[in-house]
Amino acid sequence: MPEYKTVLYDHVTPEVVRVAMNRPEARNAQDLQLTRDLNDAFDHANRDDNVKVIILSGEGPHFNSGHDMRGGTGLGFNDIPPVGTWANFDAPGAEGAMAKEEEIYLQMCRRWRNLPKPMIAEVHGKTIAGGLMLAWVCDLIIASDDAEFRDLVVGWGIPGVEYFAHPWEFGHRGARQMLYTGDWVSSQDAHRMGMVNEVIPRDQLRERVEELALKIAEKPLFGLKITKEAINQTQDAQGLWTAQQAVFIMHTLAHTHWREVSGAGIYTGEGASTVPGRK
Ligand code: ZN
Repeated sequence: MPEYKTVLYDHVTPEVVRVAMNRPEARNAQDLQLTRDLNDAFDHANRDDNVKVIILSGEGPHFNSGHDMRGGTGLGFNDIPPVGTWANFDAPGAEGAMAKEEEIYLQMCRRWRNLPKPMIAEVHGKTIAGGLMLAWVCDLIIASDDAEFRDLVVGWGIPGVEYFAHPWEFGHRGARQMLYTGDWVSSQDAHRMGMVNEVIPRDQLRERVEELALKIAEKPLFGLKITKEAINQTQDAQGLWTAQQAVFIMHTLAHTHWREVSGAGIYTGEGASTVPGRK
């Protein structure tokens, strides 16, 4: 069984793998180590001929608290094999900042969303900002009845997190309300708006997700892969990817503006955290 610093990798059966984010002390905040470990774990599962379904869950009281603004475990951008083509991560100004967010958020999430095997997000507790992207790249989202979702980054002048999928996940009305207010969205409301497939009592969540994964794993793998690809292609034909690329440029502009007017380093990925209101 492969071992990772910040991710637990376990087989439920030979056909179903559980990848669990394991930084409970940081509420599974996504630092570079976690990003790398998730990428390696997903690749391992996809290259295992027996695996058909991947479950993504989080250890500790919450699924994910978003991007790690405190430096995390110390891995640098140049320590990770890039998945995208943007480089020069140390360049000054918007150039380096944009390259970093292209690499570890937009392109990495895009890569995970396009992995061929079905993925199920098993979500409990709180999921904040960047944590949403980790659930959204999965095919199904099964949430506990106490799960809550929030993207508060409009408060920092940014149009939502880097992998901008809010209108697809919540419908445009729901997306507007959650972004404009920064309010929490309950799992029940997220289910009503279409972001969540099922809401399950917390103490039954794991059992239900594994039951679902086993049922999906009864199907032929190529059938699952090609169905996933069909739905992904349909979303992209509807404009998901085009919109995400366009919004990412706005996102970068907004970061640059914020840094210029406030002097605050919203995000460098390597420890700068002077974001007002960061909880
Ligand atoms: Zn950003």
